[in-house]
Amino acid sequence: MLYIYWFRKDLRIEDSSGLNKFIEHTANKDDKCSFIYIKNENSFNYFGEKRISFLIECLKDLIENLGKYGFRLQVIYGKSFEVFQKLIRDYKTISVYSNSQVEPYCIARDNRIRKLVVDNGGNFNSYQDTTVFDLNEIKNIDGKPYKVYSPFKNQAFNILKKNHYTSFEINLSQINNSQEEVLKGFRFYDLDEEYKKLSKSEVIKGGRKEGAQRLNDFLNRDLESYKPDRDFPSVRGTSMISAHLHFGTLSIRELLRKAFGKVKLSKNVNKKSAIQIWINELLWREFYYHITFHNPRITKESFKTEYDNIKWNYAEADFKKWCDGKTGFPIVDAGMRQMNNEGWMHNRLRMITAMFLTKDLLIDWRYGEKYFADKLIDLDFSNNNGGWQWSASTGVDAQPYFRVFNPYLQSKKFDAEGHYIKKYVPELKSLPVKFIHEPHLMNQTEQQKYEVEIGKDYPEPMIDHLTAKNDAIRRFKELAQYKIN
Ligand code: FAD
Repeated sequence: MLYIYWFRKDLRIEDSSGLNKFIEHTANKDDKCSFIYIKNENSFNYFGEKRISFLIECLKDLIENLGKYGFRLQVIYGKSFEVFQKLIRDYKTISVYSNSQVEPYCIARDNRIRKLVVDNGGNFNSYQDTTVFDLNEIKNIDGKPYKVYSPFKNQAFNILKKNHYTSFEINLSQINNSQEEVLKGFRFYDLDEEYKKLSKSEVIKGGRKEGAQRLNDFLNRDLESYKPDRDFPSVRGTSMISAHLHFGTLSIRELLRKAFGKVKLSKNVNKKSAIQIWINELLWREFYYHITFHNPRITKESFKTEYDNIKWNYAEADFKKWCDGKTGFPIVDAGMRQMNNEGWMHNRLRMITAMFLTKDLLIDWRYGEKYFADKLIDLDFSNNNGGWQWSASTGVDAQPYFRVFNPYLQSKKFDAEGHYIKKYVPELKSLPVKFIHEPHLMNQTEQQKYEVEIGKDYPEPMIDHLTAKNDAIRRFKELAQYKIN
């Protein structure tokens, strides 16, 4: 029997439930074993270059870490199902270990591969690792999954026990190096060659080392001021670990252990509550994973299906202005350019830009979701879909449709001095605070004084916010009466 550990979104050799079980079953045996990662051929059509660069950084780091124990990571290029078909042709019976994923297309892929492996006399084992709670663990009084975050969170805290976040210890030296099987006849993915071709983020870097460093910096420096700082995009107030959580260079249990450790040590009530707020954000992730698992239809549909009858605008030119950060709304443009340049966008800006696309431009949230998927390094189906449907008011526990963000007020409140805008929209650098949020209010003399010609150096606002807002509310209101969920 060939034992295979299949790394997916768990690119680390610390605190991993699947890897822990793999070692338990292979340690000190004569069976052969291999560690693999499958780089899907199609990924390039869907995901941006910076994200692939990040993935390669994670894989290189994993290779280095496995190498310390004398093992290699065999990075195979191809389609997962075909890879397993070949493994079965070559080895007849195989035993596969992995950590499970929640996305419906991953579940379908795993089910197909499980059947193939089992039909050929092998076994396919997957373990819950990416969430703190089992996906069937948090249910309401009727035994149904929650649809509202707050009771979900309360129930999560009610049932949370230390073993939910206890580490799964990993000791790779329990496997004998002579057990390693080097696979043959596959097309292997040339990490260095691919990496050279791709653009990279200057801000977000991959790999366990990098993730652990970022987490420790945040815990030691910024966590206690998370509450006041997290909404201000010009301040380094959040952890920026989302991509690491997604690719699993950090384990969610490790985050909870460390955060609870900080709560225990902190004597200051305000600081304790700041840490608690960060833990609550981790539970938003948990909530959205549960929503995806129990409502796989959200990959295509609005959670509130009545809103799939909204008359969206399909205005390509408007969509392009939004994508390029040329809407004439400085705060929106700054957010979009941050993401286009760096592969990451501050949460406040994700909400502002998503709300702008879906309410001011009335463009279908799925367009925005796909554009984010292309640009974000931390793209995570559940969080992205959850965030988009929240902003579009089509989602579970979403922002009510009549509460439309005013981009000017958001800008004044969360980037009062315009530092964030000036960083990402440098053509507005010379403007005083008075005009930074609404540069189109400058008269000719002021435009000359600050050397910014509206309509030439920086666009006029592409829509009138108030008119657009009223139109959006009217269209949503018409459908709200057909409430289905
Ligand atoms: P921190 O504030 O330090 O929070 C720590 C972790 O908690 C995050 O890394 C993340 O895993 C989780 N978290 C925080 N806020 C949220 C939230 N609102 N929803 C779910 N989880 C949260 N997050 C992604 O990880 N991937 C995405 O593709 C994604 N797309 C989004 C799209 C939209 C339209 C919106 C409104 C939000 C999206 N988010 C997404 C959620 C959130 O913006 C990011 O998780 C957060 O900005 C990441 O920064 P951080 O690591 O510094 O977060």
